[in-house]
Amino acid sequence: MPGKHLQSLATCAIHGSSSKDAHGSPHTPIYNTTTFAFSSTADLLDVIDGKKLGSLYTRYGLNPSIFALEETLAGLENAEMAWAFCSGMAAETALFLTHGRDGIICIGDAYGGTLELLSAQLPLLGIRTHLILGNEIERLDELLTDGAKLVFFETPTNPTLEIFDIRAICAKAHAHGAKVAVDNTFASPVNQRPLELGADFVVQSATKFLGGHSDLTAGTLMGSKELLIPIWDWRKNLGSTIAPEVASLLLRSLRTLVVRVQQHNTSAQAVAEAMAKHPKVARVYYPGLPDFPGHGLAKKQMYGFGGMMTIEVKGNGAKATRVADRLRLFALAPSLGGAESLVTQPCTTTHHGQTEEERSRRGISDAMLRLSIGLEDSADLIADLQQALA
Ligand code: PLP
Repeated sequence: MPGKHLQSLATCAIHGSSSKDAHGSPHTPIYNTTTFAFSSTADLLDVIDGKKLGSLYTRYGLNPSIFALEETLAGLENAEMAWAFCSGMAAETALFLTHGRDGIICIGDAYGGTLELLSAQLPLLGIRTHLILGNEIERLDELLTDGAKLVFFETPTNPTLEIFDIRAICAKAHAHGAKVAVDNTFASPVNQRPLELGADFVVQSATKFLGGHSDLTAGTLMGSKELLIPIWDWRKNLGSTIAPEVASLLLRSLRTLVVRVQQHNTSAQAVAEAMAKHPKVARVYYPGLPDFPGHGLAKKQMYGFGGMMTIEVKGNGAKATRVADRLRLFALAPSLGGAESLVTQPCTTTHHGQTEEERSRRGISDAMLRLSIGLEDSADLIADLQQALA
């Protein structure tokens, strides 16, 4: 894992904002205000007309707490620009409404809310959406030829940790004049930077690893100025801008992002290796295991393998439910990326709305448990899994 990349990322996470507090506070204060006063109408018009970047109205995102966060977020993904939203879904919605109106192709499994937005809501607005699985990727050419202009995918995916080749998909999409957006929530910029691999947008639920403490809901979109500026009006008028209090909390979290994610990676690797040897575990889905199908590709395009994994227990869904219910350190909760380890059974949570047939088409069995490996001692986490499996 290249050390230089992480050093510069760690520095950027702490010093990524150029705005300095007038009173010398090392942290941008919370500008808990809805509006900002000007000394003259001429000054006001400079900001309204976009001649000068300045604070104006918080829903517009023109607030120093939000500026400081967005500048730092852009640096983390090596992006020209970043916008912060009140949730990951808000970021996706603004992206799809701005750049997806000519059709969206979603490759592979994605977060349930994303799949619902793409399959149920956006079509009501006349937006054509195409959901293809990883093993149907040969349909990409046909759908791109048909005119879809935005390709969206997660990598690694939820819950099977499928790895998609970001460079190859971008090359194909760009050849057809389409743009590519990668949901980098599972990896975080510490483990993967899709813009450097050719993607046009990175979208993230900052609720997860970026926030890292299960105490805030936020989202972010990064990319070039040319592609992000048109999104600004949508965010402004959908009213989906991040609140200054949350922006400040997220900026605080980013300072420890690199050390947190490195620890998630180390602990997850230890847990995955222990689970791979366990007699009651049929299969472990983790990109850091050498025999995992996506391992080679993950090694090429990721800096670390992340804190997320799925184990499949031997037996049926009821057995997996019993294991989930017996875990003591892992909380039974449907989120990820926080300091505390979480467990979910996809068939009872994220994929509960799908039929068993649909789940099995997606390679999701009822005996699967998705684990978000937190920051506890990995030996304690392994011991907890062992007592629950026993
Ligand atoms: N993307 C992924 C991969 C997610 O897991 C989630 C939520 O779980 C989202 C997007 C949506 O994020 P939020 O809950 O912040 O709206």
